[in-house]
Amino acid sequence: MQYVSTRGHAAEQTFSEILLGGLAPDGGLYLPVHYPQVSGDELNAWRKLSYADLAFAVLSKFATDVPAADIKTITQKTYTADVYRNTRAGEDAAQITPLRVLEEGANGKLILQALSNGPTLAFKDMAMQLLGNLFEYTLAKQQAELNIFGATSGDTGSAAEYAMRGKQGIRVFMLSPHKKMSAFQTAQMFSLQDPNIFNIAVQGVFDDCQDMVKAVSNDLEYKARQKIGTVNSINWARVVAQVVYYFRGYLSATTANEQKVSFTVPSGNFGNICAGHIARMMGLPIDKLVVATNENDVLDEFFTTGIYRVRKSAETYHTTSPSMDISKASNFERFIYDLLDGDAVRVAALFKKVETQGGFDLSGKPGSDGDEFAKISQFGFVSGKSVHADRLNTIRQVKAKYGITIDTHTADGIKVAQEHLAPGVPMIVLETALPAKFNETIREALGHDAERPAGFENIEALPQRFEVMTADVNKMKAYISQHTGL
Ligand SMILES: *Cc1c(COP(=O)(O)O)cnc(C)c1O
Repeated sequence: MQYVSTRGHAAEQTFSEILLGGLAPDGGLYLPVHYPQVSGDELNAWRKLSYADLAFAVLSKFATDVPAADIKTITQKTYTADVYRNTRAGEDAAQITPLRVLEEGANGKLILQALSNGPTLAFKDMAMQLLGNLFEYTLAKQQAELNIFGATSGDTGSAAEYAMRGKQGIRVFMLSPHKKMSAFQTAQMFSLQDPNIFNIAVQGVFDDCQDMVKAVSNDLEYKARQKIGTVNSINWARVVAQVVYYFRGYLSATTANEQKVSFTVPSGNFGNICAGHIARMMGLPIDKLVVATNENDVLDEFFTTGIYRVRKSAETYHTTSPSMDISKASNFERFIYDLLDGDAVRVAALFKKVETQGGFDLSGKPGSDGDEFAKISQFGFVSGKSVHADRLNTIRQVKAKYGITIDTHTADGIKVAQEHLAPGVPMIVLETALPAKFNETIREALGHDAERPAGFENIEALPQRFEVMTADVNKMKAYISQHTGL
């Protein structure tokens, strides 16, 4: 399987060649030259597989240049009941992403798929844990090393650190805004004592951290010498790892391939739901893919009007589902490429327009950039939006009706899913985090703390290991060089 850029100018690459990188050299995102198809017989055979074996089956279709036995070892090591142990009462950890039927009635069936039982209690572990093992394997083969440098305001940074801790050939330098993360998230990251993990608390806000990452990344000579890479959500292997749980969810919720299901996905950078789109393109019988946004409704606006209008930072709200607070959706270009039938010239022009004019318009109205909005229903996409008051209501309602506490992002998903329920088609809502991570809002909604999985009771009291630094790029570079010895 070869990979091409959505903007058409980069040479074809293999899975291993794009594994450690991000954007294609022409600024586009990598996609396979075609989506591998899954036949009905194959789907039936997959019904019996464990999660790890299913991950092996899916990944084998994409990572064709990696020996099958090695992929098998890596998936077996990644998807274990021990890694995904943070289950709720009644969930079987061995299922990795257990389903819970919330409601089955005249309006339809509502199901929650638990994706947040991994080490950092958010769905990003599903892909990042695999990435950690794939990176270690690939670097060992190439006798290479990699220094991951990134900025985080929460979920991504901790998922990356827990995936890369203790891994040979990898160091992680993670910037976060000093004293701006929740006590729980800070403790999760800063309590790591592994010598290959470097937490840097920057005296500033998240944008200052991100500016430093950009400044270092733009210094190509330094970046090459220090072997600096990233693990952001556009990484292709992360997307593929996420494809697996759409198959798992479908296979667990159905008994025959004639049945369809829909998925609702709390969305920000469009990475998670992009994996659902790919599963559907591979032939998985998905009816609707429901994009749920919070107040930052760039995607809801696109899927209801055909107009993609990225937000300025001043228009990007800080909400109580913070992992969905995005101004533009970094994986969106992958879907637009498919919507435009792989017309890379047009994709390049549209995303150039995003940079120069802040967006594009596919509504088909006079003066627009195209009329593909009319085709969106063929891809199953619909959308909806949820705001703070909805989150509080939904958290209360789910607690009262079904007896479980959900996090704020999942609440956005449930709220929007209820608007798209259809009789005869089960609706699976992806649970993207556990409530303990967003306790402040749980308290606001329910008047008491969210319960914590075993082992997380006192994490705020653990010794913390971090460096406080001013937002000074040169100091940052010196710090990295000093610790890499490169
Ligand atoms: C990252 C994240 C999201 C958004 O996922 P995307 O892939 O960026 O769309 C939603 N919820 C939680 C809890 C997250 O951490």
